[in-house]
Amino acid sequence: MTVGIVALTRDLRVHDHPALAAAVAEHDAVVVLFVVDERVAEVGFRPANRAAFLVESLADLDASLRDRDNALVVRRGVWQDEILRVAAATGATVIHCSDDVSAFARGRIERLRAAASGVGVEVRTHDGVTVLPAGAVRPTGGDHFKVFTPYYRQWLEAPWRRVAPTPKRIPAVEGLESGGLPTFAELVDGPTSPARVAGGETAARARFTAWRRSGLAGYGDAHDDLPGAATSQLAPYLHLGCLSPLELALGAQGRAGAEPWVRQLCWRDFYHQVLAARPDASWADFKHRNDPWIEDAAGLAAWQEGRTGFPVVDAAMRQLLHEGYMHNRARMIVASFLTKDLGIDWRVGARHFLRWLTDGDLANNNLNWQWTAGTGTDTNPHRIFNPTVQGQRFDPKGVYVRRYVAELAEVPGGGAVHTLGPLERAAVGYPEPILDHHEAIAEYRARRGV
Ligand code: FAD
Repeated sequence: MTVGIVALTRDLRVHDHPALAAAVAEHDAVVVLFVVDERVAEVGFRPANRAAFLVESLADLDASLRDRDNALVVRRGVWQDEILRVAAATGATVIHCSDDVSAFARGRIERLRAAASGVGVEVRTHDGVTVLPAGAVRPTGGDHFKVFTPYYRQWLEAPWRRVAPTPKRIPAVEGLESGGLPTFAELVDGPTSPARVAGGETAARARFTAWRRSGLAGYGDAHDDLPGAATSQLAPYLHLGCLSPLELALGAQGRAGAEPWVRQLCWRDFYHQVLAARPDASWADFKHRNDPWIEDAAGLAAWQEGRTGFPVVDAAMRQLLHEGYMHNRARMIVASFLTKDLGIDWRVGARHFLRWLTDGDLANNNLNWQWTAGTGTDTNPHRIFNPTVQGQRFDPKGVYVRRYVAELAEVPGGGAVHTLGPLERAAVGYPEPILDHHEAIAEYRARRGV
């Protein structure tokens, strides 16, 4: 009898799971294993919202495996050591896992490979984290695309892999200790957002089906509308692999409204292939410009807590704390405010986002922050958002602002909420703007020499 192990990371699903499908096809019995890797928490990559989402996603996956005559096996400790311990206990000969792009993920697979080769166990990596694996298409003479549009063109034309079959039955290894699913008490360290989305493949698939039916067709027109919240909100499920990005792209293609939405999935792949080629760009400037960043503890606290006095910025920052999510347009507005108006280093903002976003993702988060800061693949220094104008344009009636800024909820006057005077602010206890946007931008331009 041959035994294979599927070592899960952020691929917590049974549908279109190439590593799982390969293991089921090749082995008589399969161990589906999740190691609660102590190093993930040590590097700060399991903040409360994502930890809670992980606990829920693992429970959901365990239920799906039980429906297929198997169950999740859980271990705790050093990732590669625990996997090899299970391999030794079960006589497994092959470990299947999903390939990934960050330095952390790649280092972990390399350590597993090195340790496994010493005991005659094979490690096989599979695609599945992105639609197209990083490096599958390359520009002439380069190892990764630095510009989105040519990447997008090639991405659309490249052959995509076939969707992996969903196993109906996954034969288990008898008698293997399950290890017990992680609980909130075990993994969730710190406050979570009260209105965060719940994890799991089942919830993810239901959300996609519902959104495809009611949201996809209008996405092109409505995706920037702040109060409409008309985007899919599937990002956390994509981050943890509760959904296959390939299945989503194929499931949308050919339907009304698909093009602009599938294009966003390509942005995700784009940043993943950048990070794969430039793992240092997670925290170092992709193009270092010697930016003179400013230390401003009071400005930073006002931004983090949503009391800058700019209604749309404050609404967005409070949405982040309340939901563990923020609208994409709002992410761009607040990132511009932090890096241009306040002049604070993009890494400080990226870290705050990673603390709270349920979809917090090193490639998408940090490279989008670099895009806004002008240190990324595209260093346009003129990408400056006027927070008042952005509010008026994308929240013209002030609905988004009133939803998240309690002090302003009852203020009358529709879009006038973006331009309240001192008396109106004082009357409801809402702060004065902490800076003058035009002066702040003049200072930014002087600092940056643009
Ligand atoms: P939809 O509009 O429905 O898009 C579908 C999917 O496409 C998303 O779920 C996401 O996986 C992908 N996508 C959409 N826009 C982008 C983009 N600009 N770059 C890369 N992928 C994209 N996205 C994350 O997944 N995690 C992050 O940590 C993250 N941090 C960000 C930080 C900043 C400063 C900015 C400007 C953007 C960030 N994004 C991040 C990208 C984008 O804002 C979110 O993916 C999107 O808002 C998620 O909502 P949605 O699922 O409804 O997206």
